[in-house]
Amino acid sequence: MDELTGFVDKTGNKWDMGRYASLLGPEATIQSFRQGNLNGMVEARMTLCRITEGHSGNTCSVCLKWAGQVVSLTGDVPGFPSIEEAREEGLFHPGCIHNIQIL
Ligand SMILES: [Zn+2]
Repeated sequence: MDELTGFVDKTGNKWDMGRYASLLGPEATIQSFRQGNLNGMVEARMTLCRITEGHSGNTCSVCLKWAGQVVSLTGDVPGFPSIEEAREEGLFHPGCIHNIQIL
């Protein structure tokens, strides 16, 4: 998972993801924060997580459906939809305020 903690650019500068994300702006920051959460849970061998609840002005119908739902991180837990399914339906769209949390 080295590529997620940092990288070296063409000129040999080392970047850590936090610094990189802060230059990309809030949206990239929240995306990488979410991805970091997800990776941490998978590494800890967790199989289920919950989509956080909560609504804001840009909450869409997709978010209303998925907020508070328990989803499978790996997609192989019977009876639970996978987080990939949620993503394909549009969860974590740009500006999305939702995240994942440990059950
Ligand atoms: Zn959303």
